[in-house]
Amino acid sequence: MVDIVDRSEWGARAPTSTTETDWSARTEFVVHYSAGPPDQSPKDIQRHHMDSNGWSDIGYNFLVDTEGTAYEGRGWLVVGAHATGHNTSGIGVCFIGGDSDTTSAAKNTIRALYHEANRKAGRTLTARGHRDVGSTSCPGDSLHQWVADGLPEQ
Ligand SMILES: [Zn+2]
Repeated sequence: MVDIVDRSEWGARAPTSTTETDWSARTEFVVHYSAGPPDQSPKDIQRHHMDSNGWSDIGYNFLVDTEGTAYEGRGWLVVGAHATGHNTSGIGVCFIGGDSDTTSAAKNTIRALYHEANRKAGRTLTARGHRDVGSTSCPGDSLHQWVADGLPEQ
């Protein structure tokens, strides 16, 4: 089990709408980075996604900071807004920070979320970096290589 700071604990605003999917539709686990400062909070990111992008909620399903703390975004089964064409099939997890900010603690928590997703799905999801499914540098070279290597324990 992964300890996850839930929405009420980090003070999330309510989504303006949600679309649920189910585990049969989940086939991928998509890793992102925020490409912003590592001290950004989930609230900052939610504010940007809702107030600047006009989205219904924070775009990611989960977020992980440099300390390895996991935060609930949309959660396991709400369709996200993180990778065009892969929001229903993919669970989107975002590392808060840039390419040079990645830590072993963050990687190990992303790895734990991946294993938790596989347990919940009852099968192995395909782990990808955002750039594998879209035209972007996300999730940075360091995380992308680590995902390509199979999310090894750090
Ligand atoms: Zn991304």
